[in-house]
Amino acid sequence: MTASLDPDVVDALDAGLRWLFDTEQPDNALAPFAASLDAAERHLTFNPAWHPIGQPARPRIWLSTWPITELSDRELVAFKRALAARVPVHSTPARDGWLLARDAHPSLLAAVGRHYDPGCPEHGNRQCELRDDCPWRPEGRAALRPPAVVGRPVQLALFAA
Ligand SMILES: [Zn+2]
Repeated sequence: MTASLDPDVVDALDAGLRWLFDTEQPDNALAPFAASLDAAERHLTFNPAWHPIGQPARPRIWLSTWPITELSDRELVAFKRALAARVPVHSTPARDGWLLARDAHPSLLAAVGRHYDPGCPEHGNRQCELRDDCPWRPEGRAALRPPAVVGRPVQLALFAA
C-alpha cells in the first residue's frame, strides 16, 4: 500500500517532519500557523500547534489535493502508514488531517508564539505587517528556516497568517 504513494509526496512528508521536529529556529524567527509543501498534485500542510476544541495543541499534518478532488481511501491509508512509520500518530481523522503524539520543536513553537502573542515587541501588536516602517515581521519571516526538500524541486508555500 505504501508503494502507491508518489516518491515526491514521501519526500515532502519527510521534509515537513524534519521542519516540525528537528529544525532549530532562530530566536527572532516568526513562524506561520502552517507551512505547506506541494508535491505530485498533493498538498501537505504542517501545523506546528493545531488546537482541537477541548484538547491540547498538537502538530497536525493534512493531506489534500489541488485542484480539490476526493482522495481515495487507499491513498489515505497509504499516507497514514507512511506517517505512522515515522512519528507517533495521536488520532486518525484522515480527511481532516492527523494529529501527532509528539510536540513540535520548542524553538518552532516559540516562533509560532512570537508571531501571534504579543506580536511586535516595539509596537505591541500584530498589525505591523501593515506598516512599511517596522522591520519586525519581514525580518522575523526571513529568519524562519522553512521546510526544505533535498534533491527534489518541491514547491514551498508558507501560509499568510
Ligand atoms: Zn512593529
